[in-house]
Amino acid sequence: MGEGGAGAARGARIGVMGGTFDPVHLGHLVAAAEAGRAFGLDEVVFVPAGEPWQKEARRLAPAEDRYAMTVIATAADPLFSVSRVDIERAGPTYTVDTLADLSRERGPEAEFFLIVGADTLSGLGTWKDPGRLLALARVICCTRPDHPLRSVEADGDRISVLEIPQLEISSTLCRDRVRAGLPVRYLVPDGVAQYIAKRGLYRE
Ligand code: ATP
Ligand code: MG
Repeated sequence: MGEGGAGAARGARIGVMGGTFDPVHLGHLVAAAEAGRAFGLDEVVFVPAGEPWQKEARRLAPAEDRYAMTVIATAADPLFSVSRVDIERAGPTYTVDTLADLSRERGPEAEFFLIVGADTLSGLGTWKDPGRLLALARVICCTRPDHPLRSVEADGDRISVLEIPQLEISSTLCRDRVRAGLPVRYLVPDGVAQYIAKRGLYRE
C-alpha cells in the first residue's frame, strides 16, 4: 500500500495529529503516543499542514522540510505514520478537509480521533464547518502547560480531555532557541536537531 505506513485495515481506530510541525518536537510525540495508548488506537497519522489559515502572517519553513522532519521523528515508532494530504491540497489547510481526505482514503469503516492540544481546542468553534468535523472524528484534547481547560470543554463522547505528561515545549520555543544559537537537543528528536542544522532552518 502507499502512504499510511502502518497500513491500518478497515475499521481501524485512527488518530490524526495535525500541525505545522515547524519543527516537530517531543510534546507532539508524547501527545500522540498517550492518545494512542489511552484510546486503543491502531495508528496515529501525523499530517503536516500545507498553508495553515491561522499562521499566514509568519513565514513557515518549506512544507518539504516540515514533512521530512515529521518523517524522521516518527519513523521508528510502528504506531506512527505521516500523510501528505494537506501538503498536496492547494490553498489553506482546514482540518475538516484533512479528515474528509483521510476518510476517503481509508474507507467508511475507519474511525477517526482528532488529537489536539488544549490551546487548539479553544479555537475549534471558529474552524471551518465544526459540525461536519465532529461528525467525521471524535476529538481528543491533550492537556498542555499554560492552557487551562474548563470542564465544559469535554463534550459527551465527541470531545474528551486526556491528561498527559506536561512538556513545556513549543515549536515557537524551538525556533527562538535556534535563532539565538541555543541547542534544541532533548526538545526535539536527535535526527530533527541534525536536520535543522544541516538545512540551516530558523537561523533568521
Ligand atoms: P507553534 O509554537 O508554532 O504554534 P506548536 O508547538 O503549538 O507550534 P503546532 O504544530 O502548532 O505546534 O501543534 C500541533 C498540535 O500539537 C496542536 O494541536 C497543539 O496544540 C499540539 N501540541 C503542541 N505542543 C504540545 C505540547 N507540548 N503538549 C501537548 N500538545 C501540544
Ligand atoms: Mg501551535
